[in-house]
Parts: sequence; C-alpha cells; structure tokens
Amino acid sequence: MNRKRSLTIKEKNKLLAAEGKRLRCFGMTFRILPTLEQIAQINQTLGCHRLIFNSYLASRIEAYQTNQTTLSVAAFKKDRLNALKDEKPYLKAVDKFSLETACEQVQAAYDRFFAKRGGFPKFKKKHSSKQTYTTKYTNGNIAVTPEAIKLPKLGLVALFPKKTNRKRLQSLLDGTLKIQAATITRTATGYTVSLSVQEVVAISQPVDLTADYRCVGIDLGLKTFAVVYDGKDFADYSHGAYIKQAEKKLAKLQQQLARCQKGSKNYDKQRTKVAKRHEHIANQRKDFHHKLSTTIANENQVVVVEDLNIRGMVKNHKLAKAISNAGWRQFITFLAYKLDWRGGRLVKVNRFFASSRLCSACGHQYVALTLDERHWACSHCGTVHDRDHNASVNIRNEGLRLLAV
Ligand SMILES: [Zn+2]
Repeated sequence: MNRKRSLTIKEKNKLLAAEGKRLRCFGMTFRILPTLEQIAQINQTLGCHRLIFNSYLASRIEAYQTNQTTLSVAAFKKDRLNALKDEKPYLKAVDKFSLETACEQVQAAYDRFFAKRGGFPKFKKKHSSKQTYTTKYTNGNIAVTPEAIKLPKLGLVALFPKKTNRKRLQSLLDGTLKIQAATITRTATGYTVSLSVQEVVAISQPVDLTADYRCVGIDLGLKTFAVVYDGKDFADYSHGAYIKQAEKKLAKLQQQLARCQKGSKNYDKQRTKVAKRHEHIANQRKDFHHKLSTTIANENQVVVVEDLNIRGMVKNHKLAKAISNAGWRQFITFLAYKLDWRGGRLVKVNRFFASSRLCSACGHQYVALTLDERHWACSHCGTVHDRDHNASVNIRNEGLRLLAV
C-alpha cells in the first residue's frame, strides 16, 4: 500500500505563506504522576526504546565496517526490526511508535555528526539518570483533558500543569494547538511529558530597519551573566545567589559520593541525591534564561550578541567549567526564537571581533588586555572603561554596522 507521505514543516509553511501565515512549532513540558502500573509500562517502553536504538546503531556500525554501506532506517525496519519483534515478543507489548522514533533518533544523530554539529552517535546507557522515549500523534492517540493526558498504551495519566502553562493547556483543549509528538522522560525527580505542538500564526512583520527601532547589545560573561546596553544605559543581569547556594550543596554531595563505596547501597542513594540536585540547578538556570530572554525580546526589535563558538572555547580548560555552566547557548536559543516570534532580529557578531579590547569611545585597541582586568583606561583618549560595559557597547555598534551594510 502506498501511504501518503505527510508534508514537512517547510512544505506546510510554503503553502501557508500564500495566506500570510506560518507554523509555529514549540514544546510544552508537564509533570505527570503515573500510577504504579503506568510506571511499569513506561519503564518497559524505555527499555525497548533503548534496545532498538542500540540495536540499530550497532547494525549500522557493523554494516559500515563490513561492507562500507549505510544501513538505512527503512532497511533496518524491514529486515531487522520485525525479526527482533519475533525473537523478543515483549517488543510487541509497547507502543510501536516509540520503536520507530528510536530508529529515527539514530538517523538524526548521524545527520548531526555528518553536519559536524555533534560527535559520533553514542549508545544509550541503562543507568543514566535521564531516560526518554518519544511517541507520535496519530488518530487521537495523544490528547489532553484539564487533569490528565492520554498517552499510547498508558491511557490517562494525571497531569500537573505549571502555572505558566495553564493558558497553553487551554489552547490544547480548544484545538488551536495541534500535538505532533510526546516525549516521556524519567529523571531522578519523577516523570514528565513534553509535547511538540504546532499552531498556525500570522507571519509577523519583520522589523523596519529604516524606521526607529530599539536595539541592544549583550555581552555575555562569567562574572555578570549578561550586560545589556540599549544605547544609553547599561543593565547587569546575574544568576541569583540561590544558584551559588545550590552549587555549593552539589559540591558537598559530590564529595560525599566520592567517599562512598562504589556499588554499595549508600553509593546508589548518594548518586540519586546528586542527580536530583543537578536537575534542580538546571531548572533554576533555565527559568532565569527564560525570564531574561522574554524581557529582552519584548522590549527590543534588534538584539546583538557575540557568536560564541562554545565548542572551540571549551578546549581552554581554565574557562571550560564556567562556560558550560553559564548556559549561554541555551539563553541565546531562547532569545532567538522569542525574537523570531515577534518579528525581531538576532544579530550575531563575529567572535573574533575584539569586543573587549576596543575602546568604545575612540576605537583604539588595547591589545594587551588580560582576562582579569575588570577596568582599564584607554591610552589614547583616557576614557576609563568597565570591561563588560565597554564590550556591550562595541557589540551593539558592530551589530548596527552589520545591519547597515
Ligand atoms: Zn579611547
């Protein structure tokens, strides 16, 4: 049977553009409270998803090593997946889409690898603290009610909408948002479901660069998370003290873990504690990034940031920990899509552009600037600069210059 291929997002957008509309795709995460029975089913599905993922990855590596051929998803499904289902009947007891998406995830990992956006695909580990599987929407198999979410093979699972998601939950109930897929995640602190949803929105008018618009330059840093310069004033934003506190606690927990005998009961208990604390800190950071990016995207049409090649920078070990911790990349991702939704623009300036060393008053370059110099005076014009403030001015100017050409 020739099943009709569903349209890609790009193709759908092309059709919608004629009406001045487009798709907006995003995710919504809810905490869920499965029953014991549902937990057993989730765990089984996680296991099967992992098995298929690893099995396809292993077959694909083998095919390449023996014949230098690529084992496609379709070929694996046809030749191996059905055989595996016969060998291991429990694979038939779980949601079939979770097995399909496992194959697609391997493909996606290869795609990222070939595009140099990621390392070589890794096997999924049974004992990592975060386990997920993804299932797809078809014929109403995923749906929400005000109190629960219906998921394939699980039935209704109790749902706890976060305050901020209540309005969105309403749009799911009235059908404005269309569910595409659901990812079920098990972490140290419980279970969540992330829905990928689509809605049709009017194409927002892009910012008119010939008229007045608000533009800020942002210098992302280690000491201060972000210095935002709007052409007149500076605003400094830092992670709250609560994150420092939580990190201290985490360090202590990790110390205790190091003292535990590996494989013992205490070790396992301590490991769970460490994982919970990690998750907590990641959530606090995410929350901070969301709030700040929303504020900035609401108030400005153009935002200029440095194009950070984070992978390149992490090689510098001194900075590595702090940089990956700071989560600049997450923040910029949030900022990019929020601006995009509002018709705004994110301008990235070259990372080799010497934002810290350039005197923003006269353009003189202070080549010898070191990392620990927080303030410096320009030898040419005498202006005294705060390192981060000066950088944010330069970033903003460079962005405006790029927009003008
Ligand atoms: Zn100067």
